[in-house]
Amino acid sequence: MVGQATVLLGPPASGKGTQGRLLAAAENFAYLSTGRQLRKEVADNTPRGRLAGAFLREGQYVPDDLVVDLVNEWIGRARRGWVLDGFPRTMSQAEDLDRILAAKASSLRAVLFDVDSDELERRVVGRRECQECSWTGNIAEAVVSDGKCPCCGSGLQRRFDDIPENFRKRFKEFQDLTLPVASYYEESGRLLKVCGVGSQEEVFKKLRFKLM
Ligand SMILES: [Zn+2]
Repeated sequence: MVGQATVLLGPPASGKGTQGRLLAAAENFAYLSTGRQLRKEVADNTPRGRLAGAFLREGQYVPDDLVVDLVNEWIGRARRGWVLDGFPRTMSQAEDLDRILAAKASSLRAVLFDVDSDELERRVVGRRECQECSWTGNIAEAVVSDGKCPCCGSGLQRRFDDIPENFRKRFKEFQDLTLPVASYYEESGRLLKVCGVGSQEEVFKKLRFKLM
């Protein structure tokens, strides 16, 4: 079956997760956040989670083969379109993804979200994630709902890897490892750039416009 993958690239807290979920819902695509899935496997103490947990706690990227396995499994199960958030993060992962998609005669387009690093650090410090549904947002947005998830009312938690030192480490790794991936897609005419500053709705409008 021919399909299309939309790859979302951006520094930590650039909003690509939120935009990815909105896009997947609007287009009826399957959505995978490799980071979220790995954190879930850490919590569930799966074999992959036990391996990945040590890297995540240190704010380090999980080794390529672990993540590629996860993505390969998921693409094999999913439907006509895929939204990938947090993958590929390295050139080696990008090449693996091209091979996985070529085997399914499927194409790829990539989106890079631009946000400056001071704004990103402010966002990371206030970021909260629902333990039950996929809601992610800022602590300020949860004030009206008494610190509970605005979607389902469950408890919100700070991600265990969201501390400023980890943010700086992840931001540097984004620059060193993921920006070359963006260049790789740009050189092959597959990269779209979207400014990630503004409300969720504003950024989503810009994203849809670029993808048309
Ligand atoms: Zn929730």
